[in-house]
Amino acid sequence: MQHDAMRPAALPVGPPDGGALLAGADVAVLEGVRTVDGAVVDVEIAEGRVVAVADRGPRDLVAPESGSRAPAAERALAGEPALRLDASGWLVLPAACEPHAHLDKALTAARFPAGTGEDLVGAVAQWRELVPHIDGADVLDRARTAVGRYAARGITTIRTHVDAPADGDPLRLLDALLTLREELAGSVTLQVCLLGGSQTPTEVFAEAAARGVDALGGCPHLASDPRAEITRVLDVAERTGLPVDLHADERTALPDDGVLDVEELARQVIARGLTQRVTASHAVRLGSLPPERLAAVVGLVARAGLGVVTLPITNLYLQGRDATHLAPRGLTAVRALLDAGIPVAAGADNLRDPFNPAGSGDPFETTSLLMTAAHLSAREALDAVTAGARTVLGLPPAGLTVGHRADLVLVPDVPLGDVLAGGEHARVVLAAGRVVADTRVHRSLALGPASRQAIPQSARPSTRPAAPELSAPEQLVR
Ligand SMILES: [Zn+2]
Repeated sequence: MQHDAMRPAALPVGPPDGGALLAGADVAVLEGVRTVDGAVVDVEIAEGRVVAVADRGPRDLVAPESGSRAPAAERALAGEPALRLDASGWLVLPAACEPHAHLDKALTAARFPAGTGEDLVGAVAQWRELVPHIDGADVLDRARTAVGRYAARGITTIRTHVDAPADGDPLRLLDALLTLREELAGSVTLQVCLLGGSQTPTEVFAEAAARGVDALGGCPHLASDPRAEITRVLDVAERTGLPVDLHADERTALPDDGVLDVEELARQVIARGLTQRVTASHAVRLGSLPPERLAAVVGLVARAGLGVVTLPITNLYLQGRDATHLAPRGLTAVRALLDAGIPVAAGADNLRDPFNPAGSGDPFETTSLLMTAAHLSAREALDAVTAGARTVLGLPPAGLTVGHRADLVLVPDVPLGDVLAGGEHARVVLAAGRVVADTRVHRSLALGPASRQAIPQSARPSTRPAAPELSAPEQLVR
């Protein structure tokens, strides 16, 4: 990397409480940014990829000056070339990947009466009551809002599952999300996976494939004959070559015949010699198996080359409701899968709907839960929402390695544990080298002794102030 003394100074990214001015800017260089290994580096980006990472040597924590403003977006909008940014005071991480969302259902929680919560079957029933009244425009509107939330939190890739309702056009929800995929092209990568049920005709799977769906899915644990349901989905996958992502074993109780969905799935993948990516989402029952039985299942999953997606927040919400004591956590056997070298992805699953009325769309909410409920280390948790998730989805790697896609997130330069615990909200998010979201946080505190210090007249609003924007926790209780 060249350090030309005659070159103008890099534009500062600015402080975490500064102006959020960078969205839309193309980035050529991030100067002086800290990595998770503690190094301070210059990162060069070209054509959407990281092309150089140069170590600058040790540097103390630097807090950027409050109030400095970078007119980067204005320059970008004026058609100027990609920017060199001074990112001192920021930590760079690979951008996150949400491997399992339901954008068709997202943000519908307020349409249901607030109750004490539902298990999986109860949530399915609630959703089936609502879905006849949902059209494509409704889906598109909520999905756009949800994607904005995910992107602002540092997610640049999302796989969404989408239902094929029995009432009306079964592909109206799918079509809306395919439209959104087009809208987002070049910024957030959206994969759409058809979530067919046992009532979904096979022709609907085939038509979804013809319309360009990215993967085929289903939920055999809810079918009367799980084996037949897996066979049906894999038949279409074999004909079309599409990847498969099944909701599998999303229950803690073991099936009556003792055969898990993931076992049947793995056996069929091996027998058919499928080469496309095949994923088991949830795989909750693995968490109920004793060690000897678990070892055999994990060995089979490894032989079949399956990836597994764990979804802590939603399965902590849905599972274990029948338990009178020692309630199960509802997670898959994350440690055993990692120990066996099986690719593991982690995500949030549902976002404010009957399956999960909580959630913020934040990958660091998922990392926090992975550390508490799956007992992963900070690095393992980070991997599950970044590189691990991309591997499971069959995507090329992203992050701070030469040749990788420049999907990066800048967070304030604090210890990694603070970030993964979800404590930092200022973020600058790059997808293929372009800033797709810039969030800064303004906060005022009055924690000292109470005083009656007058607010200067110049700082008073001239009219009644607008209602403050609600924070995520506040929205949850509304
Ligand atoms: Zn799901």
